[in-house]
Amino acid sequence: MAAATLFISLLISGLTFWAVNTIGQDARMNDTRFGRDLGLLLAANSAPTIAEHNLSEVARNALRFYDSTSSVRYILYADEKGQIFLGIPFSEEAQVDNSLTISRRIQLPDNYDIYSQLPLVRQHLTPSGEVTDVFVPLTHKGKYLGVLAIGINPNPTTLTSSILTREITIAVFVSIWAMMILGAVFNALNITKPIKELLVGVKNIAAGNFKQRIDLPFGGELGELIVNFNEMAERLESYDEQNIEELTAQKAKLQTLVATIADGAVLLDTDLKVILANPTARRMFGWEGEELDNNILQYLPDFLTVQLTAPLNEIAAADSQEKEQTEQHKEFRITLSHPTQRTVRILLTQVLDQQRTDVKGIAMTVQDITREVELNEAKSKFISNVSHELRTPLFNIKSFIETLLEYGEDLTEKEQREFLETANNETDRLTRLVNEVLDLSRLESSKIYHLNPVDLAGPIEQTIRTYYLNAKDKKIELSQEIELDLPPVLGHYDLLLQVLTNLVGNALKFTKSGGKVVIRAYLLHPQTNQVRVEVSDTGIGIEPEDTEAIFHRFFRVENLVHTLEGTGLGLSIVKHIIEKHNSTVHLISEVGVGTTFWFDLATADDCVSNPVLGVR
Ligand code: ADP
Repeated sequence: MAAATLFISLLISGLTFWAVNTIGQDARMNDTRFGRDLGLLLAANSAPTIAEHNLSEVARNALRFYDSTSSVRYILYADEKGQIFLGIPFSEEAQVDNSLTISRRIQLPDNYDIYSQLPLVRQHLTPSGEVTDVFVPLTHKGKYLGVLAIGINPNPTTLTSSILTREITIAVFVSIWAMMILGAVFNALNITKPIKELLVGVKNIAAGNFKQRIDLPFGGELGELIVNFNEMAERLESYDEQNIEELTAQKAKLQTLVATIADGAVLLDTDLKVILANPTARRMFGWEGEELDNNILQYLPDFLTVQLTAPLNEIAAADSQEKEQTEQHKEFRITLSHPTQRTVRILLTQVLDQQRTDVKGIAMTVQDITREVELNEAKSKFISNVSHELRTPLFNIKSFIETLLEYGEDLTEKEQREFLETANNETDRLTRLVNEVLDLSRLESSKIYHLNPVDLAGPIEQTIRTYYLNAKDKKIELSQEIELDLPPVLGHYDLLLQVLTNLVGNALKFTKSGGKVVIRAYLLHPQTNQVRVEVSDTGIGIEPEDTEAIFHRFFRVENLVHTLEGTGLGLSIVKHIIEKHNSTVHLISEVGVGTTFWFDLATADDCVSNPVLGVR
């Protein structure tokens, strides 16, 4: 900018000086022409008088001439030898007191030719300004009489305008520079400072410091820019706060999610240092209350350390040269013995950065598959049980029918009947088994059962009737104790009948001769509107560690599997049916003393006032 200003100012000044010069030259030309004409005129006028030696007349004429114009600065007459004999204005000095007594020689220019008839004009500078000197030879009738020298002042108007122009040019030049300097100072004070502040502000904002504000009292466009900048920073700050709030909420949600998921979750960095371990993982590995701030291998049981060291290091050091990689996975199935016996599936997954180029860590998921394993085992056991259970009655049916077919004629009618009865019983057993499997799968589905008021005396009596002969055969006393005026319960008749059948069936199965089996039903407390149903026996009882497992599908107490018939489905069906009645089945048992299974049912009156329970 300074260079441009310098260039423009120099150009303007140059042009102006050129114009001034041109004007000066013009003026000089005019002065030359004017001086020459004036000289020729005065010389022509004076030459005859000089020839007559009438010097007083010459002096008079010259003085008149001098007084008539202000353009003439001096008039000098010199004789043919160059001796000045008249000079106007008169000198103050003694020798020139009288013009007629001047005794000085005229200083002619070098190139002045006294024999030339032409005047010579030249300009020279004196302390009081430029003078145009005109030298005109004085000749009369061909005789050279001397020289007339006239000094002409430059044209005052031209001079004034040229001086004025020059001064204006200088003034313009100076003012341009003054303005330039003033502009630079103004710029530095008014523009550079806020722009610098803005630059710092923008840098801070870019670095994430949204609290940045600019406090400068500027108006105009710059002021507007500062106001807009501050508004932008304010908006960014509020977005930032919102984002932080959202991020915090998101983090809290994720933390809650990680803390509550059923699977164990452990997050490791690439040095295998534990960054996060959720409560499930801590529980599974027995890390509760432990400070986990080191390499995970330090905290794992020895056998697991041996198994996981290589895969963990391999995943952490995975090649990040590839442009985009897919996470590596590794899966292990491990049985933990501490703190409890569990089978877990450990899944190691590589955590990549957003560009999916660098490994950021390892996510370790620990799934407790104990139940899955148990179920699979139970399922296999069930299949073998069911196969066994199916094979036995099928084999029996087939052998009795074959015998009847082949040797029926040789058998007595009584024997034939017994054979048929046995085949029939075996068919019933087969049917029961198949039905139980079907019942359970139906109960485990989300099928909705409509509950209606049921008078419990009905299914209880029907159960007693079903098992009457069985109990009699086993010499077991089978009885019922139903409270008088027992209100009807809200339930499903067939399902409740199945519950009682299964429980009484088990009670008779696991009670020795001479024992007792009782079905009880009574109102718990009038306020609660709940009816309690109990099935008690004086049987072999159940070990405390089995009291939970017996309700699992296919579970049968091991030592009884091959001694008494059963599928391991009866209690599981009971549990599901009672759950469909919004209740839970409980038991109390003592080995060798007996067992009581009990559950509570809502009375039908209660459910009228609480219709939600009406449909399930
Ligand atoms: P199962 O068809 O084998 O009887 P259940 O599911 O009905 O199957 O019962 C599971 C297991 O619970 C039985 O194998 C038995 O060991 C135990 N059990 C059930 N009822 C009784 C009882 N009244 N007394 C003792 N043990 C019982």
